[in-house]
Amino acid sequence: MRTLVVDHPLVTHKLTALRDAASDTATFRSLTAELVTLLAYEATREMRVQPVSVTTPVGLASGVKLARPVPLIVPVLRAGIGMLEGMTRLLPMADVGFVGLRRDEESLVASTYADRLPADLTGRDTFVLDPMLATGGTLATVIRMLVDRGAASVTAICLLAAPEGLRHVESVFATDNTGEPWVRVVTAAVDERLNDRGYIVPGLGDAGDRLFGKI
Ligand code: URA
Repeated sequence: MRTLVVDHPLVTHKLTALRDAASDTATFRSLTAELVTLLAYEATREMRVQPVSVTTPVGLASGVKLARPVPLIVPVLRAGIGMLEGMTRLLPMADVGFVGLRRDEESLVASTYADRLPADLTGRDTFVLDPMLATGGTLATVIRMLVDRGAASVTAICLLAAPEGLRHVESVFATDNTGEPWVRVVTAAVDERLNDRGYIVPGLGDAGDRLFGKI
């Protein structure tokens, strides 16, 4: 597995505003969308393309178009939904599948309550959207679901990651069969640690609550 921490002043600027407990829901939502678009720009760098030529008003230009099958975006319910708009801005042609996982607040173990993914993902680039990579249990479960269905690559886009969560996902998905790392995590920052409730410190609090309200 490879981890990319996107080092860019705009990313850090938006993340800092997102962390601020004083940012209201509207601000939090729009900052999330903007931050995801910036992270997605880096996360899609290795997408497969095929050469094409196009007729301009003045001549013939060679270029590329995204290879088929189209990518699959997988927001993890609930908080990942808040990242979808920022991602589809860059990949409007992508399909979207949904996975729902609930974390037991005592054991911190995640269980699946929704699985709306295509049965066959052979040859597809997939992008998981989950704002907080905390213990890594949820992300490892979702990556496993995509790998088991044949995904060509899995890139997780997380606003923030904890070292514990990165270590966990790394321990599960070290390398693929050819020895090349092909599971990627793209994030705006790796924070200090998890607290005893599994929250990222200093983090930004509960991303789902800040996006959609407390339930
Ligand atoms: N989920 C959140 O929303 N925030 C955290 O800090 C950890 C998990």
